[in-house]
Amino acid sequence: MIQIDLNGQVAVVTGGSSGIGLACAQLFLRAGASVAICGRDTERLAQAEAALSAKYPDARLLARRCDVLNTEDVSAFAEAVQARFGRTDMLINNAGQGRVSTFADTSDEAWREELDLKYFSVIRPTRAFLPMLRDAAGSGNAAIVCVNSLLALQPEPHMVATSSARAGVQNLIKSLAVELAPQRVRVNSILIGIVESGQWRRRYAKEAQPGQSWDDWTAELARKKNIPLGRFGKPEEAAQALFYLATTLSSYTTGSHIDVSGGVARHV
Ligand code: NDP
Repeated sequence: MIQIDLNGQVAVVTGGSSGIGLACAQLFLRAGASVAICGRDTERLAQAEAALSAKYPDARLLARRCDVLNTEDVSAFAEAVQARFGRTDMLINNAGQGRVSTFADTSDEAWREELDLKYFSVIRPTRAFLPMLRDAAGSGNAAIVCVNSLLALQPEPHMVATSSARAGVQNLIKSLAVELAPQRVRVNSILIGIVESGQWRRRYAKEAQPGQSWDDWTAELARKKNIPLGRFGKPEEAAQALFYLATTLSSYTTGSHIDVSGGVARHV
């Protein structure tokens, strides 16, 4: 296994209180980085903080309530990171959720909400943390990695607004990568398919046959959805790709993405 020492570096993970973000925070802590996470629900955030501190007792960890759609929250989060750690080397724009709706049942308001969430969950944290990332670039690594979805390239009509917004964000990430390259800040993304999350656990509780295990239920869904690897992804698998793109392991990569979809992508 490749070892990388992130002592002295600071990773910020939006939506780090659950799922992919939490798995990513763990990887950074394990590698010795200081980590800041945020989320809206203070109870979930406190639980995540307690779990991370129990696993990594020496962790330099900051957990702060912040809605990435709220400018004041995001500025205050960046100020708290600056005050506690004095720098940011890696920003993971992960916070968010998907919206299931067809064109027929998506209202104007729903469109606006979805575009707002997908764009501003990237724009606001990027803007707030950019001065620290620029400063960190002089020490050899400054990176932004965005959690995006394969829907950006392969839209699904039952998630019409999410697919469309994801495509726009992928385009934005490319522009950002080119604009920030002279400042030595790299910008990349991961495109995920289906990753086990609270949302899927809740659907399992509602829809599974009596006695049907989680593994059997997800394997059946993976078959129906034609996922070549035959299963959902795990948060840790998405987190590993984020870790790679955030660290010097990928020092010559910017404006690019890693597909973490189990082979669902149909394009070459
Ligand atoms: P989880 O629901 O497990 O985690 C989402 C995290 O984001 C939570 O910590 C949540 O905390 C936080 N969050 C959501 N909205 C905001 C907000 N406005 N401000 C701050 N924090 C927020 O889901 P996943 O780990 O699966 O999702 C991570 C990312 O991956 C999301 O952007 C999601 O859209 C994307 N994705 C996931 C897929 C999957 O199959 N799981 C597929 C495609 C994309 P809180 O609710 O307390 O704010």
